Amino acid sequence: MVSFLSFAVLAYTFFIPCLADGLPYYVHPTCVHNDSGVQEAIEEAVLMAQRSVARLDTKDPDIRKVFWYTFGADISRRTSNIPMRKVRKIMKGIGDMKGVETMQDSVVRIICDHDKRWKPPPEDMKLQKDKLGNDLPDWSQDSLKPSDERALIDAEQLKDGTLDTEPWRLNFGHKRVCHERGSIAMYTLTYHGSIPKFGKGRADVTICSPFDRAPVTTLRKLMTIPDFDIVRDTTLVGSRDSPPTAMAPTALMSFMLLHELTHLVDFDREDVPEPDPYGWQHIIHMSLESRLLNADNYAFLGLLALLGDYRVKLDGDQRRAKGGYLVNTDYDFGFRP
Ligand SMILES: [Zn+2]
Repeated sequence: MVSFLSFAVLAYTFFIPCLADGLPYYVHPTCVHNDSGVQEAIEEAVLMAQRSVARLDTKDPDIRKVFWYTFGADISRRTSNIPMRKVRKIMKGIGDMKGVETMQDSVVRIICDHDKRWKPPPEDMKLQKDKLGNDLPDWSQDSLKPSDERALIDAEQLKDGTLDTEPWRLNFGHKRVCHERGSIAMYTLTYHGSIPKFGKGRADVTICSPFDRAPVTTLRKLMTIPDFDIVRDTTLVGSRDSPPTAMAPTALMSFMLLHELTHLVDFDREDVPEPDPYGWQHIIHMSLESRLLNADNYAFLGLLALLGDYRVKLDGDQRRAKGGYLVNTDYDFGFRP
């Protein structure tokens, strides 16, 4: 459902919006329609990260168990300080992310166009310099022939005239991921190139169809469905290619978005093939080093941290916990969603 693609941009931004704390994200209009749950989902992904940080700081018994399964370290012991601090730092960065109203003010764009924005560059596009003196792509070069589509350009950006002031959004080689891989739910595309005051690089998180129209995108919504009981009806082990109607915590857009946000250059997590980067049953058996690098371990930590607020936790029995079974808990985390 995900893949991490990196591309280079040749231009740096000229326009420097004011930035408080945290990476600013923008929900593109393609994600905003009547029944869209994208906005709620991104907010919940950020909340999952915030709750991870808060609970790692209090080290309550349930989060200690969660950390043991997700990152293989006992945070009540001093020897676990280093892995815990690494994880906390990434979750803090994601938890600090803020929504902004305009694309120009953002570093991360959440977009639901099913990759329609990618077009071959116009035939008459010439080499030019941006306002910082950076050379923009020379489309006459063999490697950048418009006709072969090896470099695609963001048609919306071309149309709205921000080419001079925005980093170019270029897509080299990978074309349209949503179209090419039918089962993919979303993916992160990073535009490298340092952007002063903005973290290390801009990125798009593209939510492909039909996942952008999922009826239930958040835990908050899932927990209020009549006759649905998360403890009775689901486990953490499930297919990541579930249709968008699947009623499972791992099929939630918020969970998948948290996974994607760890791929941002500032956090730099990867999908570690050891042997499979996705899914509870795989991530709990990785080496410590792989766990710290693997995106899904962070997503599961966030999911379980927030589940605690709904008084749900991992099963106390080790075998059942490894099977992803959940139970109710009376533990009061001092926070109710
Ligand atoms: Zn990934």
